[in-house]
Amino acid sequence: MYTPIFLFVFTLRAFLGETEAASQHVNKDLASSGHYNARFHVYEEQPYGIDFTYHNYEQMSQFLRTTSLRFQNLTALYSIGKSVKGRDLWVMVVSSSPYEHMIGKPDVKYVANIHGNEAVGRELMLHLIHSLVTNYGTEPYITWLLDNTRIHILPSMNPDGFEVSKEGYCEGGQGRYNARGFDLNRNFPDYFKQNNKKSQPETEAVKEWVSKIQFVLSGSLHGGALVASYPFDNTPNSRICRSAPLCAVFQSYTSAPSISPDDDVFRHLSLIYSRNHGSMYQGLPCSPSQPGFKNGITNGAQWYPLTGGMQDFNYVWNGCMEITLELSCCKYPPASDLQFYWDENRAALIKFLAEAHRGIRGFVVDENGNPIERASIKVKSRDVSFLTTKYGEFWRILLPGAYKLEVYANGYLPREIEFRVVEQHPTSFNVTLLRANRHPGDEEPGVNFYNGNRDHVNRDHVIHFRPHSSGTNTASEANGGIFSSLSNGFNSFVSNWFG
Ligand SMILES: [Zn+2]
Repeated sequence: MYTPIFLFVFTLRAFLGETEAASQHVNKDLASSGHYNARFHVYEEQPYGIDFTYHNYEQMSQFLRTTSLRFQNLTALYSIGKSVKGRDLWVMVVSSSPYEHMIGKPDVKYVANIHGNEAVGRELMLHLIHSLVTNYGTEPYITWLLDNTRIHILPSMNPDGFEVSKEGYCEGGQGRYNARGFDLNRNFPDYFKQNNKKSQPETEAVKEWVSKIQFVLSGSLHGGALVASYPFDNTPNSRICRSAPLCAVFQSYTSAPSISPDDDVFRHLSLIYSRNHGSMYQGLPCSPSQPGFKNGITNGAQWYPLTGGMQDFNYVWNGCMEITLELSCCKYPPASDLQFYWDENRAALIKFLAEAHRGIRGFVVDENGNPIERASIKVKSRDVSFLTTKYGEFWRILLPGAYKLEVYANGYLPREIEFRVVEQHPTSFNVTLLRANRHPGDEEPGVNFYNGNRDHVNRDHVIHFRPHSSGTNTASEANGGIFSSLSNGFNSFVSNWFG
């Protein structure tokens, strides 16, 4: 969630730092267009569009600024930090509430171009932004999505790498790395292995970003293959392959999947993308030497294990369901192919984001109805826990079925809640925690309440994934007499949008 300061800083950067450049642009346009009247009218009078060419950093920044000025009620532009070479890492929010988190509604994100020479995703993000803002109010699906979701789009996590990449280069590493030669998708903390790579400014910016906003769902966009890949990327006992082609050679050694507790959900999310994509579901290999993928999806480690990837980090550290989308066999195809890639991906990019509305959502509150922040939540037998927001909100993407939710917060009696998830709409319920000290019978010496939140001061450094934490259930089972199961018809309109 935004803290007010966080929002303020971003807003200030977007609108103080860039206003000068934007007004220069206006003045330039003024000189060439004869019908200019008022300062910002020029944006309304000129056609708004995005062509199928590659946009370098300046052109991309210009498009984002133009969009933010033209669609002030639907977009907000902020920078999460700077690259090694000082380029802003722009994020555009697209939502009917661009400046404020909508309480109870999920935030989702796309991150593209983490490998600077994988250029298709970067351009697709600009077209996605354009498509969302120009279809709001006329296309019911998009209108519903923007009314109920805040979509954060980082078109380029590695703008320095992109600037030294070459159009038409389908393979190779030029531009893949940041300006100091680091692979940013090997630069995150890793649950399975120690990652000794020096953390880069781009990585730090993303880590801070995801620590401040509880993203529910995320896609990381890549190129060089055609597949949706899901956690885990790493495994406790793996050969480390450094490139997909190399790993294909050694595939017999690297074919063991690394199964996460939410494997069913990750497979589902990946299939949503591949089925709504023009051709991914066919699972055809990019070349005879590359592997094919059944239904266009794969477990990350089963394809090839890697240490320090972003998707495992999102999931394990922040409870955010991120998958990796490989969108083109050629990493940097000719611009003349971009229309084709947009046509193949448009439906999938939009349908995937709507999956944030599947599963459960609600609030953790005290007995007076006040939100409890940083309560620790876990779906039983899925040992990746996550924390409530400052408003006490929680979300979890789950497939239809019966589950138990375990909720812990310092100073409160832990609680276990049974609930069901149905296909048609998200299950919505609130969890009320009672203060531990109001129940003297529970305060006998020697009773240890779960205190998993005590050290969660800095989420960046807390590992929530506890594969062997069976012992933590004891307290909640003792409290198991109080079950509640509520399935509210949150919004029956939602049911129309699942693909
Ligand atoms: Zn990549």
